[in-house]
Amino acid sequence: MLTLTRRQCIMNDSKRWGRTFNMTDSTAILAIDQGTTSSRAIVFNTNAEIIAVAQQEFPQIYPQSGWVEHDPEAIWSTTVAVCRAAIASAEAKGARIIAAGITNQRETTLVWDRKTGAPIHNAIVWQDRRTADICRTLHGQGVEGEVQHRTGLLLDPYFSASKIAWILDRVEGARARAEKGELAFGTVDTFLIWRLTGGAVHATDATNASRTSLFNIHTGAWDEELLRLFNIPRSILPDVRDCAADYGVTDETLFGKAIPILGVCGDQQSATIGQACFQPGDIKSTYGTGAFVVLNTGDQAIPSKNRLLTTIAYQINGKITYALEGSVFSAGSAIQWLRDGLGIIEHASDTERLARELSSNNGVYLVPAFTGLGAPHWDPDARAAIFGLTRDTGPAELARAVIESVCYQTKDLLNAMKEDGMNPSALRVDGGMVANNWMCAFLSDILALPVDRPKVMETTALGAAYLAGLQAGLYESFDDIAANWRAEAHFTPSMQDETRTDLLKGWTRAVKAIRRF
Ligand code: ADP
Repeated sequence: MLTLTRRQCIMNDSKRWGRTFNMTDSTAILAIDQGTTSSRAIVFNTNAEIIAVAQQEFPQIYPQSGWVEHDPEAIWSTTVAVCRAAIASAEAKGARIIAAGITNQRETTLVWDRKTGAPIHNAIVWQDRRTADICRTLHGQGVEGEVQHRTGLLLDPYFSASKIAWILDRVEGARARAEKGELAFGTVDTFLIWRLTGGAVHATDATNASRTSLFNIHTGAWDEELLRLFNIPRSILPDVRDCAADYGVTDETLFGKAIPILGVCGDQQSATIGQACFQPGDIKSTYGTGAFVVLNTGDQAIPSKNRLLTTIAYQINGKITYALEGSVFSAGSAIQWLRDGLGIIEHASDTERLARELSSNNGVYLVPAFTGLGAPHWDPDARAAIFGLTRDTGPAELARAVIESVCYQTKDLLNAMKEDGMNPSALRVDGGMVANNWMCAFLSDILALPVDRPKVMETTALGAAYLAGLQAGLYESFDDIAANWRAEAHFTPSMQDETRTDLLKGWTRAVKAIRRF
């Protein structure tokens, strides 16, 4: 942790980007975390401690099977409401908010009218599969290799490009208006920046841009060839900036004063920053509804041979740092299924006691492919299954099998990363599930790696606050930020190699079985 005196020195000398902040004990940063199911605002002090939090959920819209939308006005109104609540609460405690950072659900796509700021369609959410046909057609043209080479991504409806094309082709007159420069596209960060600045700024950061499938991660620019492939007019795209940069100031009428927006980053990359994974080989995994593993690969964009994503971890001072990313679709959601679907637990935390009751998994494996399998399999049609049931199988075996499955899936991702040439030496974890100590210990055993759980678990919001703090001059560099990171718990592997090998054999057999089913 930095001493205040040192930070004050930095601040006193700092007149960065034309702004001078007078740093005091009460200096604070507002982090806006616009997620898939809720909007959150957290105010941090300069020691990365939480001063105030506000959160509001908003409705998910499912117009058809496989379609997922958000009402842009719900995204906007909940964001403004939580910011107001968090600012009021922090200021009542004497905090002085000098800047804001934004982190957001990635890939979710909005198109709006530049004049009125009114969206021309609901936001199409990252999970939405309606553009599978567009992707299949492109696949048929044999361009996946080219797309993967330029973007680091796979040809999949998950990413924004096909969603933009869908909106432009399905909303009457949209394509013609886009060609005339009347419409703007943005991921959620861009939409919020536009609204927060009263339409003054149309910009995104490199991490969000890297998830659109239109951004060339090697040149660091929108790619004409990709725009042609997906049939997207250049005129609708935002300006791409560093993650720590000037994104304008909030309209005074919103929060009673203008707050400079100085940091922007997609949610998983933001958690990577919040976890201070700044060196090549540093890796974090976030266990919420799904699980997201992000590995810093430094200045090398490593092409994956195992269907992992190559993506931008962050861009600072024009310099891109890359990452390999793997996602698991069902992690905490499988725990929710035990609670809400089967009714065999009352609280998510019951799973820890149940798992501990058993001395082994008794040969029971659960593959939680409720919505298909993510990386490295990318099998949307796979479905979940339980193996090894006997008459004495009960809630404990099922709870344990769910937790174990999250750890095995992480192992599959780390194996894929290893085959791609990266061999991390420890894993930093966060997200709601890692409150489960049994899970963290088992994860460490299965990975045969130390697992560290940080003191500040709000790593996603913290990353955005750090970026804004960096731009404001509260931190001199990532080294200052890394010095803030503290482990709350440390887990070291103690499992025999033979046991691990046997368990993994059982898991691999189970995954193979569901893929053949
Ligand atoms: P998200 O941000 O995706 O909504 P969170 O990071 O808030 O998710 O994590 C919530 C998830 O963690 C839920 O799916 C819940 O079932 C799971 N969870 C919470 N506590 C525990 C626990 N002690 N053991 C296992 N899973 C847990």
